[in-house]
Amino acid sequence: MILQTYNLSKFFEGLRALDSVSISVPRESLTLIIGPNGSGKTTFINTVTGFYRADGGRVEFAGKDITNFPPHRIFKEGMVRTFQIPRPFKKLTVIENMLMPLENPGESLRGAILKNWVDFESDAVEKAYDILEFLNIDHLTFERAETLSGGQLRLLEIGKALMTDAKLIVMDEPLAGVAPALAHEILKKIKELCDAGKTFLIVEHRLDIILDYADKVYVMGNGRLIAEGGREVIEKPEVVEVYLGA
Ligand code: ADP
Repeated sequence: MILQTYNLSKFFEGLRALDSVSISVPRESLTLIIGPNGSGKTTFINTVTGFYRADGGRVEFAGKDITNFPPHRIFKEGMVRTFQIPRPFKKLTVIENMLMPLENPGESLRGAILKNWVDFESDAVEKAYDILEFLNIDHLTFERAETLSGGQLRLLEIGKALMTDAKLIVMDEPLAGVAPALAHEILKKIKELCDAGKTFLIVEHRLDIILDYADKVYVMGNGRLIAEGGREVIEKPEVVEVYLGA
């Protein structure tokens, strides 16, 4: 297992947004977290990646207790997250976005922009090209990020995550606003990356598209884990019920 949580809990003014959630993410898998709106999925991701402080429980990454480490330390351990809404530097080109100083997520926007990408080690540039080629967006290398479609921005997000060499990539709704054909392309790329040693933990609403690609599925409802298993888990009565009740 690359990631394990034990009874992870997070409360907001008495609301149990996360209530003793224990999950295990196998290495080189696509592990999916689903559940209706407000069930605690984003809170779970935020707590695991250090953006929220846990009120109880434990997070282990590659066997190490990382509970309540700040985000930059969790990043250094090899876990990176992408956001529900991609946040590229719109005026910068795709390659410039790829070469942002991701080693230090706390660095200011100004500091980041002042760095000229041609100053980067050439192997970083070469790596960026290779990743863009793998993701089939190398034709956009010198386009400004603001010209990209929703799906292309998702691919850029994945590209940026791959630049970091993180072992675990945590994604919040990577398919939101992406046309089905491109969504399948993205998922195929993710599966290829799993075969190449990466692990993905993904929160996603588009079950019709993503379920076939998932190795393991966790279902949340009201801050709690209500089911886990393979793709067939969505047929369980308790899962059907939580979606109907949403
Ligand atoms: P999901 O991602 O499954 O839609 P969330 O994790 O966003 O669910 O929300 C779970 C619950 O926690 C919701 O009731 C939401 O209103 C609440 N919540 C999430 N973030 C905060 C916050 N920062 N402050 C207060 N309540 C929050």
